[in-house]
Amino acid sequence: MKSLINFHNPKTKLIYLKQKSLFDLFCTSVSVGLHKEAGLWLFSASQTVDMAAAAARIDRGRRSVSLLGTVTGCRATHTAPKSRYDALVVGGGHNGLVAAAYLQKGGVKTAVLERRHVLGGAAVTEEIFPGFHFSRCSYLLSLLRPHIIRDLELKKHGLKVYLRDPHAFTPMLEDGVRGAPPRSLILGSDLASNQREIGKFSQKDAKVYPEFTAHLEKLAGAIHPLLDSSPVDIPGVTTGSLKKRLSAAKTLMPILKCGLKLGRNVPDFYEILTAPITKILFRWFESEPLRATLATDGVIGAMTSPSNPGSGYVLLHHVMGELEKEKGAWGYVEGGMGGVSQAMARAARSYGVDIFTEKDVEQILVGSDGSAKGVALKDGTEINSKVVLSNATPYVTFRNLTPQAALSSEFIRAVDQIDYTSPVTKINVAVDKLPNFLALPTPDGKPGPHHQCSIHLNCESVEVLETAYKEATNGRPSTRPMLEMTIPSVLDPTLAPPGCHVVSLFTQFTPYHVEGREWTSQDREAFADTVFDWVEQYAPGFKKSVVGRDILSPPDLERIFGLTGGNIFHGSMSLDQLYLARPLPSLSNYRSPIKGLYLCGSGCHPGGGVMGSPGWNAAVTVMADLKSH
Ligand SMILES: Cc1cc2nc3c(=O)[nH]c(=O)nc-3n(C[C@H](O)[C@H](O)[C@H](O)COP(=O)(O)OP(=O)(O)OC[C@H]3O[C@@H](n4cnc5c(N)ncnc54)[C@H](O)[C@@H]3O)c2cc1C
Repeated sequence: MKSLINFHNPKTKLIYLKQKSLFDLFCTSVSVGLHKEAGLWLFSASQTVDMAAAAARIDRGRRSVSLLGTVTGCRATHTAPKSRYDALVVGGGHNGLVAAAYLQKGGVKTAVLERRHVLGGAAVTEEIFPGFHFSRCSYLLSLLRPHIIRDLELKKHGLKVYLRDPHAFTPMLEDGVRGAPPRSLILGSDLASNQREIGKFSQKDAKVYPEFTAHLEKLAGAIHPLLDSSPVDIPGVTTGSLKKRLSAAKTLMPILKCGLKLGRNVPDFYEILTAPITKILFRWFESEPLRATLATDGVIGAMTSPSNPGSGYVLLHHVMGELEKEKGAWGYVEGGMGGVSQAMARAARSYGVDIFTEKDVEQILVGSDGSAKGVALKDGTEINSKVVLSNATPYVTFRNLTPQAALSSEFIRAVDQIDYTSPVTKINVAVDKLPNFLALPTPDGKPGPHHQCSIHLNCESVEVLETAYKEATNGRPSTRPMLEMTIPSVLDPTLAPPGCHVVSLFTQFTPYHVEGREWTSQDREAFADTVFDWVEQYAPGFKKSVVGRDILSPPDLERIFGLTGGNIFHGSMSLDQLYLARPLPSLSNYRSPIKGLYLCGSGCHPGGGVMGSPGWNAAVTVMADLKSH
């Protein structure tokens, strides 16, 4: 434990030792696995957390972590899996849990086997520092399909969300005119207020903004029918008897529905799918802060720049969700994003799914007839099943878990070509004071409406984003990175001790290799220092308020969460890896070359984000196959 903590100086160590007994209590009661995996822990001397307050929270933390880490609830906890199930789901990410819940609901006896000590995959809450509960990877909810929330009664099972309004805050780094604070841009649901805000930069943009948002909403809404179903069954519609082909033709319905929803907007839809987002934004708007703020959605999670083709689709992917019936809204989940996964796990358990953590699958068992027979765990246990669904990435599934002899060399080559490039380094920060922004000062320390927003830093112009991207493509972390800061504890007091906050810094652009070599701890620290230096410029005093930081570079995301290449979506959401080509043309219907082995994670259509659709679509496919055999 001790060796994992990075001490800045001897004074820090003293503080650590004073707090050690409290900390040990926490560590032993929570989980060893958590600490084994921690990227980098850092406590600094001048920035002590109110540990008394933290102590008061520990009991609650212990309870919440145990809920995540083990399976409790309405049925007795199984300590060991049975020897046979109808279906085994490898991985307890949210898609694995969704798939399992629907399968079991459909009468398929199912078990989930999760490698980590905690369920949720990238939709997880972890108490990284005592009293501070972080959405350690994903941090905002919008994409989760409403039918899944309803079907699985996720609200009954504990899902609670906090809507944010306003939702975007972009402060400028500039000298205010005649002593006025620097300008900023705030966007929310109130159109008149948005126009006033945009009008600070351009009256022309303010005028057309409502038309733009209505247009975008229309394009984004048309995608929905495509999300809730598998891609078109091409082999089905092109081969077999006429009867079979006609039956398969119903898989064309979602495309038809999408087209009908779009009507005369089909050409605009085609353009936004394929265009660089700058092409569209520059046509609508002239002010740089607005262009850049909107452009961030076109590159988030993607190693691309706003001027690259395909960034238009990435933007669409990020505005196509809804929360509490509000189109395009993103919100915080109470207790962090693990709250989604917990609710799914509770729902799944209530139907009878057996869920296990710390069950690392070593191999998918393939019988002499070439079909999946179950799995072997790292501890040697073998569990049999009729079908296996993998929530792991396509790469992990087919390169690490499947016996290579069972796959053709062409298929393996194709798997190796899936693009997992990622620009993301996530930094989770515990602070003892709310950031106080120069652009909208809150000297009393009380949250303003802007604190609940996605706070876009280094977002003055599209050029800033472009430069940050170029640096990473040259193998170096950006010196002026794109930063999206969120402070969910402003709305959800369960996340941090009183007066303290959890700050999420979703940062781009960082390469997988630094100048061609592996990341070192110095690289991580140096990058986090760069990020903090930038935050400090917008909100002086931030650095002093930092109590601890958890730095997750692309290789850390891969090592801890199993995200190949650190890619947050289980594979780039690039045009060549969408819909019928996600993750590969031969794998787009959730089935694999191994009979009885399916994919059910974000690597499949419709891709990444806490959406649940890949899990749902995979479960529907599996049930249809089980029924037909
Ligand atoms: C830093 C970051 C920020 C993000 N922000 C957002 C956001 O704000 N909003 C949003 O909607 N999306 C966001 N995303 C994307 C989103 O979180 C993911 O796309 C989504 O959670 C993936 O879900 P999944 O169930 O498909 O896979 P995962 O969550 O990756 O789950 C796969 C599971 O399989 C397990 N596993 C792998 N191999 C094995 C094995 N051999 N044996 C047993 N188990 C195994 C893993 O441990 C993991 O739990 C973010 C992702 C990251 C990383």
